[in-house]
Amino acid sequence: MLRALAHHLLPAHCVVCQIGLGRTAAAVCAPCEADFFPVLSRCPRCAISISGAAQSAVGLCGRCLAQLPHFDATSTLADYVSPVDGMVIAMKFTARLDLAHFFGRLLAERAGPELQVPNQIIPVPLAFERVRERGFNQSHHIAKALAAASGGHLANDRLLRLRNTTPQQSLSIDERRRNVRGAFAVQGTLEHQSVFVVDDVMTTGSTLNEIARVLKQAGAARVHNLIVARTPE
Ligand SMILES: [Zn+2]
Ligand SMILES: [Zn+2]
Repeated sequence: MLRALAHHLLPAHCVVCQIGLGRTAAAVCAPCEADFFPVLSRCPRCAISISGAAQSAVGLCGRCLAQLPHFDATSTLADYVSPVDGMVIAMKFTARLDLAHFFGRLLAERAGPELQVPNQIIPVPLAFERVRERGFNQSHHIAKALAAASGGHLANDRLLRLRNTTPQQSLSIDERRRNVRGAFAVQGTLEHQSVFVVDDVMTTGSTLNEIARVLKQAGAARVHNLIVARTPE
């Protein structure tokens, strides 16, 4: 936390190119934002980047066409490649919460007018052991900045993690699906609500798909994932 505090007291530098930013709360300079967070052609449902040729007539990727996920849409800022992967890692492991604010603000911009409808902004809850190690949930901080920038409603306590799950990185797609089954629950009803689910990285989407399943079961009319970075195919 000391390091996070130091970032607020010292003149800011762009986390990518180190150029001085003066005494602003910014983490990334405008040219780096334009260079490393370009708007790419993506599947509207799962946000995988796709070339024009691989895109179907309805715009979905092959995987979503074969089996529609429970969520309705996904927006992301970038692919999970350098330097964005390093930014996500710095946010999580060195408590660079200024980066969480940057990501939240940019996600609000990208989601645009859709965020104006009455909504619930829900961060993906972290496993208990991760919160204990880290002292904070990065998705909560991104969601907070996103809610502040968009005027949306931060609903931090609606989605509960019922149990810790094995880290998904070590598992196959089938194992990932089984691993997260029944790991989440919703408090109260979400009847007719538009729900935005906020997370840092999306890999296969198994966790987000399970979350969308329980949100829809609780009555959510629409589930839209807002993700900092998406692993490319
Ligand atoms: Zn820069
Ligand atoms: Zn897709």
